[in-house]
Parts: sequence; structure tokens; C-alpha cells
Amino acid sequence: MIAEVIINRSAKKLNRTFDYNVPKEFEELILIGSEVLVPFGKSKKLQEAYVVGFKESSNYEIKDIVNVKNNLSDKQIELAKWMAKRYFCNVSDCIKLMQAPGSKRKNESSRIHDKKINCVYLKIDDETLLFEIETGKIKSEKQKKVLKFIQDNPGCTIPEIEMFTGYTRGIVKTLEKNEYIEITQKKIDRDPLLHKEIEHTNKLKLTQEQNSAYNKVVEALENNKYEQFLLYGVTGSGKTEVYLQLIEKTLENNKTAVVLVPEISLTPQMLDRFIARFGKNSIAVLHSKLSIGERYDEWNKIASGRAKIVIGARSAIFAPTNNIGIIIIDEEHDSSYKSEMTPKYNAKEIAKKIAKQENIPLVLGSATPDINTYYKTQQKEITLLKLTKRANDSKLPTVKVIDLKQELAHGNRTMLSMELHSLIEENLKKKHQTILFLNRRGYSTFIMCRDCGHVVKCPNCDISLTYHKYQNKLKCHYCGHEENLVTICPECHSKKIRYFGTGTQKLEQEINKMFPNASTIRMDIDTVSKKNSHEEILNKFKDENIDILIGTQMVVKGHHFPNVTLVGVIAADSSLNIDDYRANERTFQILTQVAGRAGREKLEGKVIIQTYNPESFSIEHAKKQDYDLFYNTEILLRAQLKYPPFCDIIVIGFNSLHEEEIKKTSNFVYEYLQQRLNNENFKVFVPMPSPIEKIQNRYRWRIIVKGNMTKESNKAFNEVIKQVTDMNLKTTRISIDVNPNNMI
Ligand code: ADP
Ligand code: ZN
Ligand code: ZN
Repeated sequence: MIAEVIINRSAKKLNRTFDYNVPKEFEELILIGSEVLVPFGKSKKLQEAYVVGFKESSNYEIKDIVNVKNNLSDKQIELAKWMAKRYFCNVSDCIKLMQAPGSKRKNESSRIHDKKINCVYLKIDDETLLFEIETGKIKSEKQKKVLKFIQDNPGCTIPEIEMFTGYTRGIVKTLEKNEYIEITQKKIDRDPLLHKEIEHTNKLKLTQEQNSAYNKVVEALENNKYEQFLLYGVTGSGKTEVYLQLIEKTLENNKTAVVLVPEISLTPQMLDRFIARFGKNSIAVLHSKLSIGERYDEWNKIASGRAKIVIGARSAIFAPTNNIGIIIIDEEHDSSYKSEMTPKYNAKEIAKKIAKQENIPLVLGSATPDINTYYKTQQKEITLLKLTKRANDSKLPTVKVIDLKQELAHGNRTMLSMELHSLIEENLKKKHQTILFLNRRGYSTFIMCRDCGHVVKCPNCDISLTYHKYQNKLKCHYCGHEENLVTICPECHSKKIRYFGTGTQKLEQEINKMFPNASTIRMDIDTVSKKNSHEEILNKFKDENIDILIGTQMVVKGHHFPNVTLVGVIAADSSLNIDDYRANERTFQILTQVAGRAGREKLEGKVIIQTYNPESFSIEHAKKQDYDLFYNTEILLRAQLKYPPFCDIIVIGFNSLHEEEIKKTSNFVYEYLQQRLNNENFKVFVPMPSPIEKIQNRYRWRIIVKGNMTKESNKAFNEVIKQVTDMNLKTTRISIDVNPNNMI
């Protein structure tokens, strides 16, 4: 018997099968998906590889497989192969996602609870690490392997490094001395659910709407039928209760359930509701904040069948479930379901593939569905289930939009409008809580006129231009249009053109000055870095009845604070003016979600949205909290401008140490695709430097392609990658991302 194997390495050249002989003693053991050790090339060290097929004879002179480890199922191998084609990566990259964390196996890793321990982090960034390896500054294979492990598992412990790489702490100490890594003391809790003592809740009597949604999914569940659903209901309409009861039904049928939630909303509040219903022993949790040891334990809990419910972020879709019966994706519009790292997969697409393989229902849930998802319900590809009322009869909050241009005209130059200011004052008196939201993430800045609200946009794309400091130019990230800095407003000729950019930190300062007696707490990337501190901030806000929570995106998702009656959006424009065709969608989603935080129970909620663009339709419709109105306007725009769902946007990225090489390669790819995709369906844009043109000595270029991805075009893209790989370029790399989250 001869096995076809794929070597477990990411080099593009190795994305093919190699033949090996299967010795007699392994014949019974070895299956498609087995992990094996094989001699490979000149290296004395054995290589890890995966079996992807068998055959009778081989044309090559072949060697023996040396060892066989655990197995993946045929279906998982099929999925990995499908992913590799679809996401333009190696099969082994995909198989890795389906393997237990770490490659050394022990029965159960030893548990450590509530102890201060040493956590290891990289001290250099990813690109620098790559640079140091490529230029030969880091030569030792052991060091490379340990660094790679730490890169994949930030915050891992030294015993974990020893256990999973097989190397001793000496190497870690050397790396620390050479300042590649740092070791810091942290308090960790090895069992993510250890401290949870939660009272059991019984299922609620479903409302009529909930019940009819529930029944439709149960029908698919009981008939072992693949069907995709969108559970679309306003915040507080009882979607989670429907999930809980669907899961209960699934367990009754002796099947298991996978629930995906956005990374950030995997909060204790959310988990508590599942634990309260099903008990913590039947639940496994998977997300990136867990240490590798914790992930390893949770993975085993699922594989052994002890956990019947998996709750996790994106990659939990690959959990080793037995007899899966339903997949639920909450907040399906969230961008975290799309991976921005290789493999650049979309968990919603993977879920669909698995649901089809297994003949089970897939339930997507949202109060503000992804435009693409909602479009599919209109096309009858997805079954629409609607919840139109709040389940506990609490009223939707009242929303008021405030025009900041008017504030300015009245001489108010602070970040708070007069109305928001006085509402906060009132709230402080009543001892009610307030949330202030300011979405200042990343570098995306925009140029705006403070007199008329005009934002400088690209003449070709209707997308705001981004200020490039380095060249002192304004650029369009889509078509490459560039122009000089604007100092006078092209609309109203005012000189009050401003580089817009104020952050949460500045807001907190201003609030502390304006309301010296109010207690405040801030939540953004800077304050949420330690493990659990996201949780700590939210608990503190709730338990200590802190007056004002100030935060970015993070405050938006799914939290439930009964005492919050006022929500203020400081500048709705910051998401409106990102250079992305999804700007309106993101704005509408964020505003609706923020508004959903106010008045969740008996107290009535008020929402103030401050903006320079009160007439923008995404803000107007968010004010009415009317998704359907928003959808109807947005889908027309998308059709007119030919953006998704009416086409795919494919970004081909290049990076290289050599400017000439990257230019030549990207031009070659451009010419090649021009020829291969020479039809009306596709438009290939000329190669251009990326918005961030250079990172750590590596040049970055890209080609944007607009069109509808088909089998044929997928093949063309896969072939161009192969062509580039065969050129054996020294430092130039190519990657392809279909409908990426952002275009930088
Ligand atoms: P969503 O997930 O849509 O935001 P939730 O499931 O969190 O909504 O429900 C909002 C509130 O309504 C929760 O406090 C929940 O306990 C309550 N609730 C949900 N369904 C019912 C029901 N059928 N009867 C009574 N209360 C319900
Ligand atoms: Zn102007
Ligand atoms: Zn443009």
C-alpha cells in the first residue's frame, strides 16, 4: 500500500503530495487524515506530514513511513482540500486548524489554578521575526521553532513551551537574553469555567414569534436536513433564548452543538446564560485568550465527548465534535468571522460547508444582518426568521441625532454637545449609568471641513481619501487616485479644514474635567490587554455602579446593563468615513448596536448620536432603528456601484525586500490575469503600492480585482500563484484574499 502525504510546512512549493510506502505494521492503523512522520529531502530530521490518499503503485522510488499518529476524518480532509483551493493556501495550513493545539501529546496537561506564573511573549513584531530568520540572524532550528511557538501562543508558559516543542528552558533563557522575547508574571486560571457557580435557569415559554422560528429550525434538525437560516431580530428580541432551546433539542437527539460568537462578546455574561441552562461540565470554550494548555484541555473535552456544546470564536468551527447536530453563529455580521491570516477563511462559509456535509441546520443570528446575508434571504438561498418585538416588553430607546456643525456655530468646541452634556448631568443626579462611545481604532483618519461637514472623497470611488503622512498626499485606497493636501474646502471655501482624530483617552480627560465628581472607566485596546481584564472592566462598571463607561467598539457588543439609561455616540462620522465600501453598513450596525445598550429593562433609554452628517442615510435609519429601510437604500447603492453582493473583491497582495522584484512580479500577475480573466465579468486594476507601502523593510504592493468568483476564475488565481511560486523568487511573496475585512 502506498500513501500520498502532504508535508506539514507552509512553503508554497510543498503544496503537493508525495508518495510513501506504508509498512505492514501500520496498514491497519493508517487512515486518510493520519498524521505521520516521514524522511524528507536531505534533512536527517523526520518531517510531520498528513495522509490525504492511497494508491496501488508509484512511479517514484519511495521511502517508508516511520510513524503514525492520530487521525482526521475523511470529511475533515475533504474540507481541508476544499479550503486550500478556495482560500489559496496549503492543505497543511488548513489541517493545522483541525488538529489539537500543540503537537506533543499527553493525556491531560497538568492543571494550574490561580497562581502567578511566568508568561512568555515575543518582544519583536512578526515582520521583524521573519526578517531576522530570512537574513540568517536567527539560525538555530530549535530557536526558530520555539519562537514560532511563542508567536502562535502569546502568553504561553515555559512548561508549555517544553511540553509542546520538546525543547528545554535553556533555549527560552537564551532568547530572553537576546531580547527576542520577554517573560512577565501573570495570574492565570487554567480552567476558564472554574469559578462559575451559576444558578440553573429553566427554559422560558417562547413567544409566538420565537416559537415559529424555533419550529422551522427543529424541522430541519429532526429530518437531518441541511438548511441555512437567518434569525433576524432587534436587540433584546430573544434570539439567545431561541438558541438555548434549539441546543436543548439537539442534545435530546444525542447530538452536539457548535455556537460561534464574536471574540469580543465571549463575555462571562454570555457564557453564564449557557452554563445556567446546561451546566459547565457539558460546555467547552475556545478562544484566543486561552493559554495553549487551556485550549488543549478544552479540545480534549470535546474530542472525548464530555463536552456536548462548543462555544467559541471563529476557529471553534474546527473543533473535533462528535455527531454534530447544529451550528449557530451569533452576531453573524461581525467581521471577526473572517480570518485575516493564512488560511484567510470565512467561518460562515466553513460552517455552511460542514452543515452541508453533515445534513444539519445552520442558524445565523443578528439584529443588523450582513448585507450579503440579507440579500441571500431575498434570493431564497437562506430562510428568513424574524423576531420583531422585544421579548421582555422593554421599549426600544429613543434616539436623537445632534448636528455638530450647529454646536460649532454656537461656539461649543468641546467633544460634548450641550444636550448630551446636560443629559449626563441629569443621569449623574439620578445615579443612573452612562456609556459614551467613540470609535477611534486603527489609523484611519479623514479630512473634513468643520463648517459644512464636507469630507474629501475620491472622484472615482465615492470613498473618503486617507491622509498619507509620509508623502503628505491624500490617496484613494481603491483605485490609487491621489491628490495634494486640501487646505480650503472645495464645497464652501472655508479654511476650517481639519484632520479629524480624537481618541477615547482625550475624551476621558475632558469628561473628568467637566464632571470632576463622576467616576469613569475606560475600555479600549489600551486598557484591555491582560487576560480577563475585559471582564474585569465590565464587572467593575456594573458592580461598583461606575457613572460613566467610555469605550470603543468593545462596549457595543451584547452586554446587558440594567442601570444604563443613556448612551452617547461622540462622533458617528468616524466609521462613516473609513475608506471602505462597507462604511454605511458598519455605521448603521455600530449605531444600532450601541443604541441597544440603553434601557434594556424597566428604565427607559435615551441615545444621543453626535455627527457632522445628520442627513446621511445610515445615521437617519439608525435613528429610526429600522434595518429594512437601511437595507433597501444600501442594496441599491451596491448594485449601482457594483460592490458585494453583486461581485467579489479580490485583493492580491505582494510583499518583498526588493522593490524591483515586487514591481516585476506584480506586473507579471497583472498581465497574466488580464489575459485569463478577459471578460466583462472581471475588472483587473493595475498593480499599486498598498496604503501602507512598507513594513519593516518589506515593500507591499497589491492588485485589486472585481468580479464574480467562479470555478474557472478560482482556477486562474490558483494557477497564477503556482506560476509565481515556480519563479523561485528570493523574497517576494504573494497572497490572495477574497472579500477581505479591510484593504490596507
Ligand atoms: P437577544 O439575544 O435577541 O438580544 P435575549 O435572548 O438576550 O435577546 O432576550 C432579551 C431578554 O428577554 C432577556 O432578559 C431574556 O431573558 C428575555 N426573554 C427572552 N425570551 C423570553 C420569553 N420567551 N419570555 C420572557 N422573557 C424572555
Ligand atoms: Zn466646507
Ligand atoms: Zn478611487
